[in-house]
Amino acid sequence: MIKLTGKKFKQMHKSDLSIFLELSDIPTTSFHENRVSDYIKNKLTEFEIDFKEDEWGNIEAFIKGQKKEEVVFISHMDHPGFEIIEKLDENLYKARTLGGLPKLSDVENTKIKIYDKFSENKGYLKPFNEPSSNDSRYKSSNRWLNNEFVSVEVELKELNFPVPVVFDLPKPKISNDQIITPVADDLAGCALILEMLRSLKASQNNYSIRGIFSRAEEVGLYGARLIAKSGRINKDSIIVSIETSSELPGAISGSGPIIRTGDITTTFDNSGEIILLSSVKQLVDQDKEFLFQRQLMNLGGCEATAFSAFGYKVTGISLPLINWHNANPEGKVEPERISITDYQNALNIMIGVGSLDIVNNNDYYKTLIHIPADAERLRLS
Ligand SMILES: [Zn+2]
Repeated sequence: MIKLTGKKFKQMHKSDLSIFLELSDIPTTSFHENRVSDYIKNKLTEFEIDFKEDEWGNIEAFIKGQKKEEVVFISHMDHPGFEIIEKLDENLYKARTLGGLPKLSDVENTKIKIYDKFSENKGYLKPFNEPSSNDSRYKSSNRWLNNEFVSVEVELKELNFPVPVVFDLPKPKISNDQIITPVADDLAGCALILEMLRSLKASQNNYSIRGIFSRAEEVGLYGARLIAKSGRINKDSIIVSIETSSELPGAISGSGPIIRTGDITTTFDNSGEIILLSSVKQLVDQDKEFLFQRQLMNLGGCEATAFSAFGYKVTGISLPLINWHNANPEGKVEPERISITDYQNALNIMIGVGSLDIVNNNDYYKTLIHIPADAERLRLS
């Protein structure tokens, strides 16, 4: 028998994970997100959710709430990879890196694939034996590739550069509580936002909800910066980055999603965080064992920082990621891994925002704001 204790008892949402498993099997890298973008637009159309694509290819979906207060969830459609920019020899090409990549990417005959709208072609990565620029991004690291360029051995029919290149890794699969996939960062975020939008479309929400699927995050938050700079999102909206981020002490995969208090450059905003924590509280009221964590994830940046720079109030939810950017601790290329528990609980926190009253500081902290009579004892007589 189920004991109903909370005032609004709601079943925990349980994803069948099909959207994430499909999405994370689609090749993507910065500037070459077209296949992921098509998948997302098709799903939004299927779910009958209003959306727009802006002039830079970022996608924004909308669900109108009862109130004007808005929560904006943002994820990015790209993942680190390469793009071929020049022919070197028969079946040999020069490619530049897009984002942070594993240190041993180019020295272990790593399998890759190139892709266009319809087809894929397999090949191998080789070192590119010319010194990189002195750019600080290519400084010596034990885990990350220190070169700006690599060589790619592949059969290319048409020379329409740039041609995108991604690691050729096994299809996504489930193993116990883990999803092992070529791309969790950030197709897990995209899948979570799609699932959240589908669920919230069917409910009456106080908050208005916006979901953003941005481009070219891995090369410098480009899509997010362009949106923030455009000013088209109200400055009172709360921006929530939905991301994966490398595991670190106190932020362990399988121990629940992280309420992210900051990233490598920015401390986030409490007025955003208390919305997420109010949703967590509803869930903990239903299930005392509900797993979540709260942490400053300071190994990488995320799109919340792009909005913070333009004066927005930001917060984030992050899934602890194993083999971040496909780099295992030795710098070898491997699939990324996230926990199913973390994914399911993040989804419940996001969907839970739909059943909240508008959260404000005075209500959230009312027990602290009310000074008890006992405090009078402090008065110096
Ligand atoms: Zn990333």
